[in-house]
Amino acid sequence: MNPMIPYGRQTISEADIQAVVDVLRSDFLTQGPAVPAFEKAVADYCGAHHACAVNSATSALHLACLALGVGKGDKVWTSPVTFVASANCALYCGADVDFIDIDPRTYTISTEKLAEKLAQAEQTGQLPKVVIAVHLCGQSCDMAGIHALSRRYGFSIIEDAAHAIGGKYQNQVIGNGRYSDITVFSFHPVKIITTGEGGMAVTNNAELANKMALLRSHGITRDPAQMTHVPDGAWYYQQLELGFNYRMTDLQAALGQSQMTRLDEFVSQRHALTQRYDTLLADFPLTLPWQHPDNYSGLHLYVIRLHLEQLGKTHSQVFDALRAANIAVNLHYIPVYLQPYYRRLGFKPGYCMEAERYYAEAISLPLYADLTLADQDYVIATLQQALT
Ligand SMILES: *Cc1c(COP(=O)(O)O)cnc(C)c1O
Repeated sequence: MNPMIPYGRQTISEADIQAVVDVLRSDFLTQGPAVPAFEKAVADYCGAHHACAVNSATSALHLACLALGVGKGDKVWTSPVTFVASANCALYCGADVDFIDIDPRTYTISTEKLAEKLAQAEQTGQLPKVVIAVHLCGQSCDMAGIHALSRRYGFSIIEDAAHAIGGKYQNQVIGNGRYSDITVFSFHPVKIITTGEGGMAVTNNAELANKMALLRSHGITRDPAQMTHVPDGAWYYQQLELGFNYRMTDLQAALGQSQMTRLDEFVSQRHALTQRYDTLLADFPLTLPWQHPDNYSGLHLYVIRLHLEQLGKTHSQVFDALRAANIAVNLHYIPVYLQPYYRRLGFKPGYCMEAERYYAEAISLPLYADLTLADQDYVIATLQQALT
């Protein structure tokens, strides 16, 4: 049997290992110099003014919502086709979550659906405080369109770019903040670069950056300028807000900074593999990923959609045949509102039909920088068998 081929995995070099070992031999395993150095590397890459490294993208999304003032009774809207964290972060703040159906070609938030929903919400006084735009598979949402709507209706924008570091939108690096308040990246090992676990929020707004930095570490400051009175002594700190321990360690940050040096290479390798899938799968009864011309995707995922009416097989049969051949395909994602927790909040099947049609047909094929051509050929051959 072929060794297991995952849908995504990390690429670790000797230099990465050395970077982590160097931190292990240094004075600081956490709260040392590696975290600000990694933050600077990501902020510089993106062309953003500020960055806040944390222990996961989930934490970064939570801090981003809090920094934007999301609280009880507020409305936060996001895509149903995303990881649950994109919606949960708003619930952590006591807000209500709602979902905007996806575009049938890009699978990201449909700007038309968003515009319709905003017009209705304005009538009933239910406008969202924040829209979380998820760059599914690495492809940017229609940020110019969403941003124009934010001007008209007065909501803030978080880009959930967990899939999208290294990508571009309108020829500008994702994370530069041109069309949003805060952009969040994930460094989970299946994502484009990794720190083991980890995430980062980037922004051009100093006030938002300060809030996130404060909340990342218990709401505590050691900066006299932020204190309510002159420090009692050199030991002094103040807790100003109810924060969390969401800090990233220096071990993680050193790995992240070392990975950053190969980010562009990882994304080009993903592009080369994607082009190869596109060519070799062209005649299969599948819908292949469509790339909007405004977009240079980070290509976190390669999602195919089965033409079920043409196949004598079900979605599960094709999926199971790939899994049985030791190809760890996956499905990104089950529409969030179909989860039992969200159904208890009142959501019902049929709420976002485009998302549900996508869910009925989608499979994520293996895609990662180190995927060998031989393994990719095996995936394609196995898929061909599974489809016939
Ligand atoms: C992975 C992911 C997250 C959460 O990232 P973690 O770093 O695992 O917390 C959030 N949103 C999306 C779209 C993701 O894919």
